[in-house]
This record gives sequence, C-alpha cells and structure tokens, in this order.
Amino acid sequence: MLRLDLARLHREGFVELDARLPAASTLWEGSGVEWDGPVEVRLTASQAGSGEIVVRGVLDGRLKRECRRCLEPVGGAIEHELALVFVSADTEGAEDDDGVHVYGQGTELDLSSAVREEVVFAVDPYVICDSDCQGLCSRCGTNRNRQTCNCTEEHTDPRWETLRVLKEK
Ligand SMILES: [Zn+2]
Ligand SMILES: [Zn+2]
Repeated sequence: MLRLDLARLHREGFVELDARLPAASTLWEGSGVEWDGPVEVRLTASQAGSGEIVVRGVLDGRLKRECRRCLEPVGGAIEHELALVFVSADTEGAEDDDGVHVYGQGTELDLSSAVREEVVFAVDPYVICDSDCQGLCSRCGTNRNRQTCNCTEEHTDPRWETLRVLKEK
C-alpha cells in the first residue's frame, strides 16, 4: 500500500507515492480513527545526503466522529501535512523519536505505520457538533437539541430553578 521502493529511491533520488487507502483498510485497525470514505495520500520521498529518507506530503480524508455530548455524527474533512524522517538502523544512535523512524534492511520501506502514527496524533477524537449542543438527557436519553423531554423540568439547572421560583410567586 504505502511501500517505498528503496532501489528506485537510490537510483532516482526521489520517489512519488500516491495511494488511496480505503476507510476499512487494516492500516486504521485499532487506531481509534474512523473515516467516512477513502483517504488520499500523496507523498514524495527523497534521499537526504546523510542517508536519511525524508518523506513529505499530504493526507486528505473525511473523518467519521461522534459528538461527545449528543452522539450525533460529526463529519469533517481533514487535510494533514506529513513530514516523516527515516533513519537507517545502521546509523549510530538511531532510535525512534518524534517524527523520526528507524528502518532496517530490505528492498522496501513500509510507510504505513509511520503515517498511521502521525494521523492518530493529529486527530482529536473528542469533538462536539456545536458549542451550544445540549447533549442527551441524563435520565431518558432524549437528544435535547431536538426535543424537550418530560424530565427537563426536574432538571437542577439553575436557570430552571429561577423559573420555578418565579412561577410560584
Ligand atoms: Zn452534539
Ligand atoms: Zn429526559
């Protein structure tokens, strides 16, 4: 899927890599990130002088999330810029760090886990549909953005309390 041909990279100095990752791709499995449609990835890998491989590009997709208050779906396109550095395992002091990944022997470099890591880090799974979202009634589960349920008046919201006091006067 996101495999970089290292021989070609050595030969040509850079390699362009475009991929369309299905929402159901195993790449996202267990990541907590869900997509509403395929994710487009456009990357350019280049060989840096010191033997490092630098991969830059962009990832485009529509996220599938739920409002944390009312649980309604919240759509949202993201365009995330990627910048990854791969260091050969032969390099002295090579270790996985922020945005730096170590790669070992082989004719191909699999970029998927590095891309996945970046995306998981960039996507906030906790969203709300609207800052005024009223959420669900904690007693009956009614979506209070759409409906007023019968429990509302017993609610201890201070605004309702004021109203009740006024009514009783
Ligand atoms: Zn909501
Ligand atoms: Zn209710």
